[in-house]
Amino acid sequence: MIHYNTKEHNEQIRVLMNEFTEQIVTFYNTLHRKPVGSPVEENTWEHLESQEIPREGRPLEEVYSEMLEDIYAHVLLAQHPRSFSCVPSNASLLSWMGDAMTAAYNPHASCRTNAPAADLVEKRLIRWMCDRAGYPEEAGGLFVSGGSMANLTALTAARDARLSFEERSRAVVYVSDQTHVSAAKGLHIIGFDWSQVRMIPTDNRFRMDLKALKTEVEKDRKEGKKPFAVIASAGTTNTGSVDPMKGIAAICREYGMWMHVDGAFGASALLSETYRPLLEGIEESDSLSWDAHKWMMQTYSCSVVLVRDKSDLVRSFAAHPEYLKDAESSEEQVEFWDLGPELTRPARGLKLWLTLQTVGSKGMEEVFDHGCALAELAEERIRQEPEWEIMAPASLGVVNFRYAPDCVQSEAERDRMNQEISYAITESGFAQVFTTILGGMKCYNKVVTEVANKIY
Ligand SMILES: *Cc1c(COP(=O)(O)O)cnc(C)c1O
Repeated sequence: MIHYNTKEHNEQIRVLMNEFTEQIVTFYNTLHRKPVGSPVEENTWEHLESQEIPREGRPLEEVYSEMLEDIYAHVLLAQHPRSFSCVPSNASLLSWMGDAMTAAYNPHASCRTNAPAADLVEKRLIRWMCDRAGYPEEAGGLFVSGGSMANLTALTAARDARLSFEERSRAVVYVSDQTHVSAAKGLHIIGFDWSQVRMIPTDNRFRMDLKALKTEVEKDRKEGKKPFAVIASAGTTNTGSVDPMKGIAAICREYGMWMHVDGAFGASALLSETYRPLLEGIEESDSLSWDAHKWMMQTYSCSVVLVRDKSDLVRSFAAHPEYLKDAESSEEQVEFWDLGPELTRPARGLKLWLTLQTVGSKGMEEVFDHGCALAELAEERIRQEPEWEIMAPASLGVVNFRYAPDCVQSEAERDRMNQEISYAITESGFAQVFTTILGGMKCYNKVVTEVANKIY
């Protein structure tokens, strides 16, 4: 007998979801008193591993409670105020609310016919973000799952805009030694060999060295290669450094290359009057990746890829099969499915709309400025500690430092100590601090601070 999708069963969902809302709000209100994560106990592992998909369904209350205890209780919380690593997400309850609303109605945000108002709202958001980036009227873009997908989507457009099919095998792309690996991975996925990605060294502040870039481009051209794109980072994952946008734009113009900016978390500086000047030149780029799930309080997954000329996405992604004809709103209308790899996609922008309408652009600016201020404060405090060393100063909410007491001179020993401190803090559950490597061999702690939360 069918016991789901009945009114009785839906009543159980009502009760449980009311209870869930009660507890999740309390959970967020007291997050700062909770551990950043709690390990999965041995018996929980065993339980999860021994569970099969049952032939007959089980009572909903039972599965609900079990999942809360076995799974959700052990999530490592990137939105925790003491989660200091890996460019976390400062996901908010507000975004959760928007996510829950969107999931409940489940719009098929592929085209205007399938989700008319959602389609319009996402387009309005994309326009707003294009304006922040200083992109012209013809610009456009798409909500995608994350920075990796945004990079891949933009680089596909770059490939098709700048290379003939025959040129692909001798094409070359330039990244820096600090560029996020998703760029090279995306290039590999769209058919380039790893050897076609040139890694340009960075200066003492971890910014792409323009001279080295130019030299490499010249050299490749002389060897018959086809330099076609440069990936500039607006906020690198390791240190928050920003590549010289204007200089890269000029080199791209000179050699006819596409300029892509990976601004996964750093593009949010465009929302801040104080920090926006750091990204000057970004308006000259051809495409931009910008994650709302990094620094705009959104739950996963919420990111945009923007291009200065929307037709560059259409060239790469438009396809018109017979089974979609009825859903096409008109011949001229460019649908979201024409702009990226996905057909069926969730309306990722609606939760961002809810958030921005509620907090305003000023609220979002405060979130950004607060994160930067925390990193600057951390730097100031660390500089007062004689045994601690700043490895890269605060930049876009990231500061790198390490414990380097005089009594320990061996670099290997210092690396080991910092690694152990990181493990110990993370294991204790009090905070999460991961390490990274800067300058080749040394291992430093890093902190990314981005949560602006009035509760704490
Ligand atoms: C996080 C990040 C990415 C990857 O984005 P995902 O959303 O994790 O796919 C790419 N580039 C930079 C600079 C990032 O910080």
